[in-house]
Amino acid sequence: MGSVAFDAIETPFGKTDKIIGGAGTYIALASSFFVNDQKIVAVVGDDFPQSMLDTLRSRGVDLSGLQIKKGEKTFFWSGRYHNDMNSRDTLVTELNVLEHFDPILPASYQSTQYLMLGNLSPQVQRTVIERLENRPKLIAMDTMNFWMDIAKDELLHTLSMIDLLIINDEEARQLSGEYSLLKAARVIRDMGPKYLIIKKGEHGALLFHGDQIFFAPALPLEEVFDPTGAGDTFAGGFMGFLAATDDISFENMKRAIIAGSALASFCVEKFGTERLTEITKAELEQRIDEFVSLSAFEMAQSI
Ligand code: AMP
Repeated sequence: MGSVAFDAIETPFGKTDKIIGGAGTYIALASSFFVNDQKIVAVVGDDFPQSMLDTLRSRGVDLSGLQIKKGEKTFFWSGRYHNDMNSRDTLVTELNVLEHFDPILPASYQSTQYLMLGNLSPQVQRTVIERLENRPKLIAMDTMNFWMDIAKDELLHTLSMIDLLIINDEEARQLSGEYSLLKAARVIRDMGPKYLIIKKGEHGALLFHGDQIFFAPALPLEEVFDPTGAGDTFAGGFMGFLAATDDISFENMKRAIIAGSALASFCVEKFGTERLTEITKAELEQRIDEFVSLSAFEMAQSI
């Protein structure tokens, strides 16, 4: 679940009018490379294009939990990237249909085993957990500074109910009040999630569980055109991979991180969701191989 949205994006390379975005959209598209029975919980207005709904459906996404509100407007977000492409400013957030979103879970959603709570109000994220009669095998969640600023208590409550939090380094620092990511990881895991992934943009991602840490690189790319949705694509790919392999061991989470990172590396090559809807499974497999060889090495001799 997550926002299904219109975005307007400005990067040093160009600017878009309203294009389709939203955390839920990226998550669903990314996970569709690994599973074909994923279900979405979201809300849009009747201004949302049918073509994207058709695309999602054709990729196996069950849309029966997607509400389309007559006469209302879809969530709108606008952001501008700085020259380094790692940081951005939010210019506009118009909640529109999200303001009074009451997530409805059709009966067919009750067997969900892998739940990805994409970026949305923490109260709505919690409602989805509460409306599932059986606890999924893994509940993962994303959030952002927007919710830390306006709904910190709600956020802490939801955090206490999940297994895995996926956030970026800046958000981890804000949430924990710690600059060191190791210290931040400890503080955040004390809030509830046993697992934590901290994304570091072009510098890869860290996975924490117990005393274990895994670091995955990001693929060095010649051009990053638009990073919007890379985080959600990562999360969707990660969860899709875990769901397809049905294995939540630390070792398998390492593989899932590489799968998510590979998909995210495609996402940034064009504006919005465009690149994700073009790539083939073969291209994805080739990129996963590039990730593996990027940091695989053997020590020639002992020291
Ligand atoms: P990411 O680049 O992965 O952080 O995600 C970007 C997506 O998040 C955009 O497509 C936006 O539509 C969506 N988004 C931005 N702000 C919010 C918010 N406050 N709540 C839900 N989704 C948001």
